[in-house]
Amino acid sequence: METTSATEQFTKSFKGDLITPEEQGYDEARQLWNGLYDKYPAAIARCRKAEDVVTAVNFVRENNMIFSVKGGGHDYAGNSVCDDGLVIDLSPMNKVEIDASNKKAYVQAGAKVGEFDSAAQIHGLATPTGTVSTIGIGGLALGGGSGYLSLRFGLTLDNILSVEIVTADGKIITAREKENEDLFWAIRGGGGNFGIVTSFTFRLHEVGPEVLSFQAYFPYEDSREILQFYRKFMDNAPEELGCYAFFLNVPPIDPFPKEFHGKTTCALIACYTGDLQKGKEELKALENFGKPFLKFLQPMEYTALQKSFDAGMPKGLRWYTKAHYLSEISDFTLETLTDFTENLPGDHTMVYLEPVGGAVAKPSSSATAFPHRNAAYSLHIFPGWNDGAEDAKIIDWAKKFHKKVEAESTGGVYVNLLAHDEKERVRAAYGENYERLKKLKKKWDPKNLFRMNHNIEPE
Ligand SMILES: Cc1cc2nc3c(=O)[nH]c(=O)nc-3n(C[C@H](O)[C@H](O)[C@H](O)COP(=O)(O)OP(=O)(O)OC[C@H]3O[C@@H](n4cnc5c(N)ncnc54)[C@H](O)[C@@H]3O)c2cc1C
Repeated sequence: METTSATEQFTKSFKGDLITPEEQGYDEARQLWNGLYDKYPAAIARCRKAEDVVTAVNFVRENNMIFSVKGGGHDYAGNSVCDDGLVIDLSPMNKVEIDASNKKAYVQAGAKVGEFDSAAQIHGLATPTGTVSTIGIGGLALGGGSGYLSLRFGLTLDNILSVEIVTADGKIITAREKENEDLFWAIRGGGGNFGIVTSFTFRLHEVGPEVLSFQAYFPYEDSREILQFYRKFMDNAPEELGCYAFFLNVPPIDPFPKEFHGKTTCALIACYTGDLQKGKEELKALENFGKPFLKFLQPMEYTALQKSFDAGMPKGLRWYTKAHYLSEISDFTLETLTDFTENLPGDHTMVYLEPVGGAVAKPSSSATAFPHRNAAYSLHIFPGWNDGAEDAKIIDWAKKFHKKVEAESTGGVYVNLLAHDEKERVRAAYGENYERLKKLKKKWDPKNLFRMNHNIEPE
């Protein structure tokens, strides 16, 4: 950071760790999960408590400085690290406390999904989160948060009881149903637009510790039939079931048979979180369907299941994202999916359908700032590759694929799945709640201090 009296003052008053480019650890601290971005901030302010966040917010506001907010660093669009400015890094704030008797969790905003899951599971409890344990709770919960438990218990944001938040004027306040209710509405889907959340209180539910995990991998040639089966099966699937249809390239590891290594497969991946015996009955149709080359159905610890995708999505690879909400898997969508996935570009590329519905669909579209309650599926085109020389080719594939399905989409998109080059889709991500969000932005952040995100401009 350029040395001025203001930065000197900040350096003295900031009680967390300030990491500048000269210091060891700078390169690790500036890295995002997505290796597509390589940014060089002036400094990284690692906060240990809410007061450190206040000091950092006051400093960037008073000095009109570019800044970003980083929790788990998994933002697909790369917004949580900035060039030349200050990164307000919440990662040291990762305390999780469970109040088992009241089924509540107090979670600092820098905690990761895995840290939250593990602490809650000691008591046989959980809140719906994402399906990768390294994602940050902050970004996940403020945008939505969907995973295996969502049809049963809603999105992560549906389970927020209150937040502690640092506002644009540097105040620490609480937002919940009966206190700053308009802000409470806005942060549940409005992303990081309204302030920096320093902690969450979540509602917990009884889950596990063992759940029923099902995975079946089929030869690519069967994919049309699998998707036809999947859409029919999901029409009557119980809310205890989270079931995804995936296209991916088979990793060259056991237990995948050697002859399928590197080939594209269509897979059904599910988790049943209700009574295990009942689950075996409910999953019979899945278990007996088709001729997978690899299949298992087994009880598994929920925390282990929540880590099972981690290895396939390593930090530092190049990743791009394109998504749509769909109201159905139409024949056209089904054909397009199979056409575009025949030769998946990129070793780590995935394309998947995630069901919406169930408890996600129960609140109205305006109950929180998250509007996409009536969609049936979220389609995510999610290429992952190593070589920068392939960027243009792979991103072009994702865009063409996405464009082709567009006519069949609801027009909406999950804000947490937007790419860096999709500014024109930000409005679609906030959907029917966009105008109200703009009004609330004017109230809570009139100068658009918090703008390094999928930005809502003040009315
Ligand atoms: C491998 C992978 C798997 C994923 N799986 C799922 C999934 O199963 N389900 C799902 O719903 N999503 C999933 N996502 C998307 C995920 O929800 C978003 O990427 C989310 O933003 C990640 O949060 P983070 O804290 O790690 O991100 P960061 O990069 O740290 O933050 C992202 C943005 O969120 C805002 N932000 C973060 N923390 C705060 C805070 N405390 N206060 C204010 N603003 C804040 C900032 O604007 C920041 O730019 C996945 C993403 C990846 C990369």
